Amino acid sequence: MAETPENPKEQNAVASASRPKSTSEFGDELSIKMVDIFRVPYFEKMFNGGFKEANDLKAYLPDDGIGTFHLFLEWLYRGALRPADMAKHTTTSGPLFNRVKLYCFAEKICSTELMDYTMTELVALYRKNYKLVSIPAVEWIYESTSPESLLRKFAALSYIRVVSKGVEEKWPMSLVAETLRSSGEPARDVLQLMRSGETGSEPPSMLDPCHFHHHKQGADCPYYEDRA
Ligand SMILES: [Zn+2]
Repeated sequence: MAETPENPKEQNAVASASRPKSTSEFGDELSIKMVDIFRVPYFEKMFNGGFKEANDLKAYLPDDGIGTFHLFLEWLYRGALRPADMAKHTTTSGPLFNRVKLYCFAEKICSTELMDYTMTELVALYRKNYKLVSIPAVEWIYESTSPESLLRKFAALSYIRVVSKGVEEKWPMSLVAETLRSSGEPARDVLQLMRSGETGSEPPSMLDPCHFHHHKQGADCPYYEDRA
């Protein structure tokens, strides 16, 4: 059974089930009055499954930082994220890193819809900006996702590209070697993908985003319109 956290201050409270936060700062900022929280199965089960949250009309989410929570609400309210401001990109922050965190958050609340939407955005942004997943982002991904995560696969394929084609000025060999030596799961996934021959000749951002979606390969993609 889902439990209310011992210290609710460490968690992010979300809107009540029966009375959406029409006056919340997020809602006001986004100029949106209603939100359908039941599009996230996590809430559907929580509020309709007889859990304590159904009586309290409150739920608590994993604490992944206010930036991630803000993006989550933006997606919940608007059904999409605002365009990324790549001027704010660094290897440890900015729109790409925030979307990586959002994907990890979506995994925690088991929302394949949000995972697939966010992955579509990530593939498009990495493709447009010729960027590979930074080492800090790879580390975050492996700390925050399950072994079956499709974001892990994307990150491992990106890392293979770093190993084989990385420019010395941006990806010093000593740093790449040290990261592989000191990392357990990322190094194993990199080697496993290399051995399986799944690496391809292009960065993973050049692949069809469906490669990293949860629907069946070849099925109609719900995120076709979101592709850049
Ligand atoms: Zn797809």
